[in-house]
Amino acid sequence: MEEQPIKQQPSQGPAEEPAEERQKPEVQENESKYVKYICAKCNYKFSRRRTSSASLRCPYCGSKNVSEDTFNLNRLIDES
Ligand SMILES: [Zn+2]
Repeated sequence: MEEQPIKQQPSQGPAEEPAEERQKPEVQENESKYVKYICAKCNYKFSRRRTSSASLRCPYCGSKNVSEDTFNLNRLIDES
């Protein structure tokens, strides 16, 4: 009879996984600082810091009719 040593070594992590860099949510951190806005008048999309939302204006047409562009965000949450 031959014994088959099926030993799992958890200490030996998968060495060939260079995807660690890609998993860094650098983009998310960036998006938390900058909020995407969309102009309701000309549909111009831009991003600003959340702090400056008080005097928010469309840099393209100067309209104050600007709302947060949370379309992508909601889409992601909705789909998952
Ligand atoms: Zn505009």
